[in-house]
Amino acid sequence: MSYKLFIPGPVAVSEKTLRAMTQPLVGHRSSDFVSLYQSLQPELQALFFTQDPVYLSTSSAWGVMEGALRNVVQKKVLCCMNGAFSDKWLDVAQRCGLAAGALRFEWGQPVDPAALRRELATGQYDALTLIHNETSCGCMSDLAAVMAVVREFPGVISIIDTISSFSALAIRKDALGIDIMIAGSQKALALPPGLTPFAVSARALERAAATPGRGYYFDLLEFQRNHANGMTPSTPVIPLIYALQSKLEDIRSEGLETRYARHARLNQTVQAWGRARGFTLFPAAGYGSVTLNCFNNNLGYDLAALNKLLKSKHHLVIDGGYGKLKGKAFRISNMGDETDATIAALLQSLDSALAETPRLA
Ligand SMILES: *Cc1c(COP(=O)(O)O)cnc(C)c1O
Repeated sequence: MSYKLFIPGPVAVSEKTLRAMTQPLVGHRSSDFVSLYQSLQPELQALFFTQDPVYLSTSSAWGVMEGALRNVVQKKVLCCMNGAFSDKWLDVAQRCGLAAGALRFEWGQPVDPAALRRELATGQYDALTLIHNETSCGCMSDLAAVMAVVREFPGVISIIDTISSFSALAIRKDALGIDIMIAGSQKALALPPGLTPFAVSARALERAAATPGRGYYFDLLEFQRNHANGMTPSTPVIPLIYALQSKLEDIRSEGLETRYARHARLNQTVQAWGRARGFTLFPAAGYGSVTLNCFNNNLGYDLAALNKLLKSKHHLVIDGGYGKLKGKAFRISNMGDETDATIAALLQSLDSALAETPRLA
């Protein structure tokens, strides 16, 4: 059973990446590992637009999303919520026993900078969580506008999830003043799941040093101490680091601007296709994601039947709606290694499958 993933993560992984993962292991305290780790830093820092260290956690992104909270929240964290992942981040903070406030928006609406300013001005908060690209509903907030507000509150450490937007467009960590910026592997980087690169400011490390109960596995100070020696705190999934090395080569040869332009162009191609077929977009106008399109199922197709056809006849799958949007919306990813040709083939398959898909409404 083999089919191509056009869901917004995990996405299809290239043969080159898979091959890279089969290289022989090295010891994680060996000079070979240190050379490998250190060789990746400059390009990672360039992708994050940062002078800060970029750490590698071979956990899924949620590990670092939870760990970041436990490192920097002393008073109360404000969770900006506009989709499934950001909703869950509040729940995770509460499960860690932290005081957490909710700044709620409808799914698909961007985080409103003015509302954020009003809430932060209450002075209750010393940290903030925000998801740049809410993958669950295809909504991308205006990070520049949001971070301009956050910078007005120097006591607030910002934890920004760029998991499904990282490397698909420029996110200038240092210029924006992001303290902890978290990327993901199985989204736009098109690596297998389980690797989380993240960059941390000196301010966040200082906060961590004064925060009790950080634990061990996601202790930022452990990451920093080991990073200084070209290593990770515990044994990483070394094949994923080989995969990252291979992907950084790909990005270097494509060029960042070309990569960003490719994501924007393919995103528009899919969007134009959907609009031409009569589908409307779920996210608020002007806040659609650049790495996926979340369309309303306003034409009432049986999305489960559609995906069944896509899988059996066309050997690909899209997403039939996340969480409470299941059956009501569908998502098509254009992140990773997709090209004009692969997206054209996808859209052709979609047209053919839609023609055979029953409508429920
Ligand atoms: C995929 C995703 C996550 C979760 O990543 P895991 O690797 O499953 O932990 C978190 N946030 C966003 C925005 C995502 O797209």
